[in-house]
Amino acid sequence: MQILVVGSVAFDTVKTPFGEATEVLGGSAAYFASSASFFAPVSVVAVVGEDFPLDDLQFLRGRDVDLAGIERRAGRTFRWQGEYGFDLNEAKTLETQLNVFAEFHPRLPEAYREHDVVFLANIDPELQREVLTQVSSPGLVAADTMNFWIQGKPEALRETLKHVQILLINDAEARMLAKEPNLVRAAKTILTWGPRSLVIKRGEYGALSFSDGGWFAAPALPLENVYDPTGAGDAFAGGFLGFLASTQNFDEANLRRAVIMGSVMASFAVEAFSLRRLEHLTYPEIEVRYRQFKHLAHFEDL
Ligand code: AMP
Repeated sequence: MQILVVGSVAFDTVKTPFGEATEVLGGSAAYFASSASFFAPVSVVAVVGEDFPLDDLQFLRGRDVDLAGIERRAGRTFRWQGEYGFDLNEAKTLETQLNVFAEFHPRLPEAYREHDVVFLANIDPELQREVLTQVSSPGLVAADTMNFWIQGKPEALRETLKHVQILLINDAEARMLAKEPNLVRAAKTILTWGPRSLVIKRGEYGALSFSDGGWFAAPALPLENVYDPTGAGDAFAGGFLGFLASTQNFDEANLRRAVIMGSVMASFAVEAFSLRRLEHLTYPEIEVRYRQFKHLAHFEDL
């Protein structure tokens, strides 16, 4: 199954307790594609400015990622600047410059309209919906969002959610979206708005998934070398959806495997700044880490 993603392709400036990086390659769609492309072909819809070196995304072409849907427009590329303290779970946004995204209206290449799996990565919820209306009859629609849009465009986001089957957000976003401090209650509320599954990412504490089939809790791999959590959520979504698209099985047992595959990919993303770890990753490393997760969470019955 081919995956279509719409999201940001960006220049990120990031500071963590372990270092900093200025105007490096990032964006929700770039992280997602770098991760999902290990499992399934991915087509990217996004916009960049004249200042963006598309050649830096060449490594994705070698992994069956179609970049023809990235439009180049006059102006500057989207920029995000963020900082993390000792608690890496919380990103503090210092600056968001929408730039070319402010006037962007995606027009999908003809070949993208038949894609089966759609991922609406973190981007303006109105753009997410514009993309969705151009896809014929997707078998699976998943989405992400963030505080910027939950607070900035709440009505547009609620409208988009009506068309989303799986929502992947972090715990703070789930609480903010549902206006409910208790995560279980927040999940139940969100599940009445459209999505039939909700995956809540909790950084170094792992991930929870909620659906009709039940709840599932996945650990995060305790890592010694964490440098930059930026993009962990998108890498998670890439592993999760890439795995579902490649196995074409959406039952509860496979959803659980997908949550683990998402956790595996997120664990790699945080090991270096920008896309670097995902760029140089190999599939055998992914398999080894999947087994580590299985071992980490396995215990015997009483
Ligand atoms: P994550 O850490 O997985 O939530 O995603 C981080 C990525 O999201 C960074 O590479 C940013 O460029 C991108 N990003 C940050 N803010 C926004 C926003 N408001 N809209 C779209 N993408 C964003």
